Amino acid sequence: MRFDIHTHQSTLDDEIAIAIRSLYSDFAKAASGLVCSIGLHPWYLDDHERLFVELELYAGLPNVLAIGECGLDKVCETDWNLQVAVFKRQITLANRMNKPLIIHCVRAFEELIKIIEEAKPTVPVVVHGFNKKSTVADRFIEHGMYLSFGAAILNRESPAAAALQRIPADQFFLETDNSDVPIGEMYKAAAEIRQIDEEAVILQMQQNFNTVFKYNK
Ligand SMILES: [Zn+2]
Repeated sequence: MRFDIHTHQSTLDDEIAIAIRSLYSDFAKAASGLVCSIGLHPWYLDDHERLFVELELYAGLPNVLAIGECGLDKVCETDWNLQVAVFKRQITLANRMNKPLIIHCVRAFEELIKIIEEAKPTVPVVVHGFNKKSTVADRFIEHGMYLSFGAAILNRESPAAAALQRIPADQFFLETDNSDVPIGEMYKAAAEIRQIDEEAVILQMQQNFNTVFKYNK
């Protein structure tokens, strides 16, 4: 079994992979038993009070495997202080629910580390769509965080590929996010980049998934 820990695709082959659908609105969809993560995305905070109430309502469902994607984005228009406040509230919620956090972070890596250092979440923290320099990867790894890699690793020259080559085996995940490229291709790329068998990647992802998401199908 393969694992896609962050995707926005609704048509996926569930025989091939367990995929965590990432929802940033319409959290009631989780009531159908859909394997998902739910959270307030920094791009979409206009109606954050109402969304947060809905988030709390569904976050405890067993098929909701994580809180997120939530986080910080310096490129979007959303007010910065609001982003920080809503992110911190979601860290508190994740702690209370004992569910991992899936983080969206754009050009705010230092700020993210500072908030994590202060808030000291008691749950695993996964930074999704990682494609930054290895020095940034190192800082996250030092803080015990997990990195998730998507289509960026298909380009061997990408910062993502360089980071994936050197991070500890027990601190990474693979994902499709918005890409149409199947998760199997990410596994192949990861095997090539880390110079191990694809079977070893499959086993490692299984182990990492069990450690962080604690989900029994
Ligand atoms: Zn996403």
